Amino acid sequence: MLIAALPSGPLAANCYVLAPAPGGDCVIVDPGQEASAQVAKVLAEHDLTPAAILLTHGHFDHVWSAPELAEAHEVPVYLHPADHGLLTEPAAGVDAGFAAQLQMLLGPGPYPVPPDLREVAGDQTLALAGVEFAVEHTPGHTPGSVVYTVTAEDGDPVMFAGDLVFAGSIGRTDFPGGDAAEMNRSLASAVLGRPDATRILPGHGPGTTVERERATNPYLRDIAG
Ligand SMILES: [Zn+2]
Ligand SMILES: [Zn+2]
Repeated sequence: MLIAALPSGPLAANCYVLAPAPGGDCVIVDPGQEASAQVAKVLAEHDLTPAAILLTHGHFDHVWSAPELAEAHEVPVYLHPADHGLLTEPAAGVDAGFAAQLQMLLGPGPYPVPPDLREVAGDQTLALAGVEFAVEHTPGHTPGSVVYTVTAEDGDPVMFAGDLVFAGSIGRTDFPGGDAAEMNRSLASAVLGRPDATRILPGHGPGTTVERERATNPYLRDIAG
């Protein structure tokens, strides 16, 4: 299984391209700002054809290039319905101070929506590009945050975590729609409730594992798993 990590845009959000093998279908996860050129390079390098785009949540730094890529490759985009509104109103997902900056960063809008936008729900499994993606709804950072988990060749789970958890940190809950209590429940279930061998591919920064975060992440210390 090929997984390319492509940190993109001013906030270095991780876009991922996952494919079972070169020369076939692939899935793009979280193509945010300035992700398209890097994605195109990976597609060309491994002769890959996108089958779908998965979004972990609706924040602009994770979704910005999704409409453009979805249109170019004629593929569906999956996002939990609780975050669909953030596609057309990105400023609704940030605080007032940041919203002003966002106008400058993104332009005045209106902002495009992917032509084939689909809903994902927790406990759903999506079969895409020959790979099974288990969906878990993990609200807290945003109401519609989800994580997608696949199984690597060695049998270990690999989780696309979005802004739920990072190496040594967790996603912020102080933006509109954020909820610290829900976040703790999501972390207990989707991080502490997972096997140690689970590899975490977060929305920002380097990859990590459940084992490492359980042992060292200060934000998980007081949460019962
Ligand atoms: Zn976010
Ligand atoms: Zn983010």
